[in-house]
Amino acid sequence: MGKLLYLDNAATTKTAPEVVDAMLPYFTEHYGNPSSVYSFSSGNKEMISKQREAIADTLGASANEIYFTAGGSESDNWALKATAEAYAGKGNHIITTKIEHHAILHTAQYLEKRGFEVTYVDVDEDGKVKLDELKAAIRPTTILISVMFANNEIGTIQPIKEIGEIAKEHGILFHTDAVQAYGQLPINVDECHIDMLSASGHKFNGPKGIGFLYIRKGVKIRSFVHGGAQERKRRAGTENVPGIVGIGTAAKRAANTREERVAKEIEVRDYLIDRVLKEIPYCRLNGHRTDRLPNNANFSFRFVEGESLLIMLDMKGICASSGSACTSGSLDPSHVLLAIGLPHEIAHGSLRLTINEEITKEDIDYVVDNLKEIVAHLRNMSPLYEDFVKKQK
Ligand SMILES: *Cc1c(COP(=O)(O)O)cnc(C)c1O
Repeated sequence: MGKLLYLDNAATTKTAPEVVDAMLPYFTEHYGNPSSVYSFSSGNKEMISKQREAIADTLGASANEIYFTAGGSESDNWALKATAEAYAGKGNHIITTKIEHHAILHTAQYLEKRGFEVTYVDVDEDGKVKLDELKAAIRPTTILISVMFANNEIGTIQPIKEIGEIAKEHGILFHTDAVQAYGQLPINVDECHIDMLSASGHKFNGPKGIGFLYIRKGVKIRSFVHGGAQERKRRAGTENVPGIVGIGTAAKRAANTREERVAKEIEVRDYLIDRVLKEIPYCRLNGHRTDRLPNNANFSFRFVEGESLLIMLDMKGICASSGSACTSGSLDPSHVLLAIGLPHEIAHGSLRLTINEEITKEDIDYVVDNLKEIVAHLRNMSPLYEDFVKKQK
């Protein structure tokens, strides 16, 4: 096989070898059901508690506020649906943003069909939530504000602490989808007044199919899955013990390596951004220049079709994305790029590159050298570009 450069770490990450090692015995040796009484199983119950504590530690939370789920989408669904139901007596209004992941947006739309009212707050051209609009959207009936910690497409980090303060001031619950931020940014749920937080194992070198929802003590929230007494009776079902060991190990690993890893990623990311902006004409960076995820770069190239770009990069062994994995395959441009004000034709020529700590500047040189050639090649085939060049003369 030729070169392979994986630059789609916002879609998913490699499970770290030490995470896999930690998980393996829980398939083949310690496979007992944690709810069973015999001593063969009792170690598993303790193991789950240990992982819960380890995750809570990374957030400044306590262990009994961490609920294991099957991933980010489930955590987001739970946070919105169960809050809506539990607080329906207080009001029926929810505030979120136009740039959320579909796990939030489609859940909000589902709730709208069931009598809830949702305000989708705008973002500015960098993708930051407009705080004055958010404040103005608050009503006496507002029960929940849900704003993502950092965006999965353009990487922009939101003013989460300020939003938490606004929510707290008005006695409104605050949920954040931290699926991209967790493991990359320091998070303290008390400092940011976060009442609920979603995260997903496979976005920080843990396994797929396991996530968690942090729910602050005292928040009234309904059970999401009815059945047994697992997860304090709120999310029934035999625990995914190997997955829980995996996500706990990955959480510890991410916290312990964060500073060094992030410093390295920022350097490589900025090298990538600088080279692309300097060397490729008619190109823009999407998202905030500095308040962005350490691993994220997102560009739009005029007169280029994003899907063709991805295919040609793939032929060079480069895995990239045009936005979120969930929207690729559809012809609609990304809702995030439209929300920051890009016209359709520019949003269509977009490319997301998300690195990890293994990517070097030499790798970036390979990517940018190829990208320059591919963009030039695609533009040469574009009648729009031909017209544009003629007009310039
Ligand atoms: C990936 C992602 C999700 C969904 O997580 P899954 O574990 O794949 O269900 C939700 N929100 C954001 C911001 C994401 O990046």
